[in-house]
Order: sequence, then C-alpha cells, then structure tokens
Amino acid sequence: MKQIAIIGGGAAGMTCAVMLARKGIHVTILERGARLGRKLSATGNGQGNVTNLRMGAEHYYSDDLGKVARALGRFGSEDAVRFLESIGGIFLPDGRGRVYPAGRQASAVTDLLRGELKRLGAEVVFGAKVEKLTYDGRFTAEWEGGSLRADAAVLAAGGRAAPNFGTDGSAYALAEAFGHTVAPCSPRLVQLRCDPALVRGLKGIRADGGLALLRRGKEVFRGRGDVLFTESGISGDSVFRASFYAEKGDVAEIDLLPDVTEERLASALKESGAEGLLCIVNNGLARALSARAGGDREKLLRLLKRFPLTVRGTLGYEYAQVTRGGIPLSETDERLMSLKRRGLFFAGEILNTDGECGGYNLQWAFTSAYLAAEGAAE
Ligand SMILES: Cc1cc2nc3c(=O)[nH]c(=O)nc-3n(C[C@H](O)[C@H](O)[C@H](O)COP(=O)(O)OP(=O)(O)OC[C@H]3O[C@@H](n4cnc5c(N)ncnc54)[C@H](O)[C@@H]3O)c2cc1C
Repeated sequence: MKQIAIIGGGAAGMTCAVMLARKGIHVTILERGARLGRKLSATGNGQGNVTNLRMGAEHYYSDDLGKVARALGRFGSEDAVRFLESIGGIFLPDGRGRVYPAGRQASAVTDLLRGELKRLGAEVVFGAKVEKLTYDGRFTAEWEGGSLRADAAVLAAGGRAAPNFGTDGSAYALAEAFGHTVAPCSPRLVQLRCDPALVRGLKGIRADGGLALLRRGKEVFRGRGDVLFTESGISGDSVFRASFYAEKGDVAEIDLLPDVTEERLASALKESGAEGLLCIVNNGLARALSARAGGDREKLLRLLKRFPLTVRGTLGYEYAQVTRGGIPLSETDERLMSLKRRGLFFAGEILNTDGECGGYNLQWAFTSAYLAAEGAAE
C-alpha cells in the first residue's frame, strides 16, 4: 500500500492528511511536538478566523501570484468551508467576510480535524522532529530515535513565525537538501516598531482610529480599526493589517478621530482650548499631544488627524502571526510538487506565500494542502 509521510501536523499537514486518508491512502503525520494543531487552536484570538469570503490573490504576497490565483480558483474559501463542514460544525462569516466556527472556538476546529484523522485511521508520530529527508527511489524521513520510509512526502512544517508553536524555520533545511532555495524571510502580521520617544507615555492607550502608511509620500495602505500604543510602537487590528505592507522608513499616520472632520475639530478646539481636548481624546493622549504641539493649535489639530510615526521595523518572529518568505512557488509545479525532486510536495506557510490579516493564511494552508493531496495521491 502507498505510504505518504506528512512532515508537520499543523493546519496544512492535518488537512492534507485528512484529504489523502479519505482517498484510502495510508498517511503518517510526523509532528515534532506532543499535539497536533497547536497554532491552529490559537488563531483569531482563540476564535479561529478560518477563511474570508472576500478571497483573491490580491490579498496575498508571493513570488508567483498567478499560481496563487489559480490555486484559489481550484480550492477557495467556499471549498474550505465545505471541507470543514464535511467533518462537522457550522462556519459563519461576520460583516467583513471573515469566517469563524459558529461557536467561535479555534480549538474546536483542531478537535474536528484530529477526530477525523483518528476515524480515518491516519497514523501520527509525536516527538518526531524530522532532521533528515533523503531519497533513494523512496523517501526516508529520520528523527532522533526513528525513521519512516514513504513513497511521497509532504513538507508542511510551517515557517519561522511564533516559534513557541514548534516553527523555528529549521525545516527549510530539509528542502534545501534537495536543492531548493529559501526566499528572504521577515515577520508579518506583527506590531510595528516606532521611535520610542514619540510613543512614550502612550503605552496602553487604544484608539478606534484610521491608519495610513506612506512611503515617500505615497499611500501604500489605509485602514480603520484598533490602534494600540505599546512601549516600542503600535499594535492592534489595523496595525497588523498594515504590517503586511510595511517597510522600514514608512510613515504611519494615525487619524485619532476618523469620524470627526477637521473643521469640526478646529471649531471645538477654538471654543474650548485645553479643557475641550480632554473631552475629545483621553487623558494620556491629551497630555502627550499637548506637549508635542507646544501650544500651537494648528499643530495640535494636525496631530489629532495625522499623528505621524516613522516605522523602524517590526517586532520579531516570536510576536508575528506569519512568515514572509520561504520555499519559492516558482520551484514547484501547479500541485506544489518540487521541481527538484519528484514526489516531494509542499503545503502551508513553509511556502513563499503569505496573506493579509483576516483568514487568508489559514485559507492558504487549506488550499495548498488540497493541491498537495491531489498531487501526492497520483
Ligand atoms: C497567534 C496567531 C494567530 C493567528 N490567527 C490567524 C487567523 O485567525 N486566521 C488565519 O488565517 N491565520 C492566522 N494565523 C496564521 C496561521 O495560523 C498560520 O499561517 C497557519 O497555521 C500555518 O499552517 P501550517 O500548517 O503551514 O503551519 P503550522 O500551523 O505552523 O504547523 C507546522 C507544524 O509543523 C511542526 N514542525 C515544524 N518543524 C518540524 C519538523 N522538522 N519535523 C516535524 N514537525 C515539524 C510544528 O510543530 C507545527 O505543528 C495566526 C498565527 C498565529 C501565531
């Protein structure tokens, strides 16, 4: 009987294993940790934003967006929902197209996949951190204390982001051993670092603001949502979305009152002065803004509508949700099979494809798992 080894038991590895096992193929997941899907259980603030109905390659970064578009055409967000509901549960979109399990528990999605794998008789080896993958007519995956022979192998070992979930980028070496390259990596969907002097005293303040990202004066992102000031910069929903586009040297401009026009603000400040400011923004912000404006009302007005912070970088992989970079899609065929070694497939974040905040990265895990399963089954 054909044996397929899946290296990594995250969202992509588990999905690929279910799809292969449903075709009657014997699969073994080799997972370095003690549990499957630990990161999946933590997604969407524990609520599991599994996909987005506003789907398309324009929401992704990749070295081959054409291939991403074709992949999404073959297995898109509705296919992902259909697949998940075929195991159990109900998945519903919110007003922004973000799809969650109706019970809003990411761990329930992991449990669904785990349960299905068990029912299908898929094998799982825990504590198997694959350190060597070789080919001599069949694949051999080796880890401390064990090895497995397989007819095909799927590398679904994730990227570098959130290493506390077992993803430290060490698995790239398994592909490099077959001649693959690794596109330069960086953390994405992560806090932006800014000049600490400019955010000092603002830590903990949250605003439902507008956020624009400017590069040499040109707008590269505009969004609305939570902006949270931190010790070293800014965080929050719209900042995570902006970090998909951000580069060092960009200027993040925060509109602290996106629902109030400049005219209305100018007139309020004119009438009421410093006391009025306390009725417009919170205490800490009012103090910091007044200090920065130095009594200049025009400057204060500008700061309220366009509070500028130069982006100095991002926090590291420990704080990031996703990795930019990895195995180039250009080194795979349409089913994500390696162009260097027939029978070797890739799925998930290990590939050089990452999506915006909002369910796009789990969708990529499902889409790529589907393609790899279709290819490996052949
Ligand atoms: C806090 C957080 C919240 C997120 N929220 C969302 C969200 O709401 N929506 C969304 O779309 N995306 C979200 N993401 C991103 C999303 O979770 C990932 O992109 C997705 O899980 C990637 O799936 P994967 O299977 O490729 O990799 P992973 O889920 O990272 O799984 C890889 C697995 O491989 C194992 N492994 C690694 N190396 C080896 C090896 N050498 N041998 C054996 N096993 C190995 C790891 O232990 C791990 O279990 C979030 C990420 C984080 C960190």
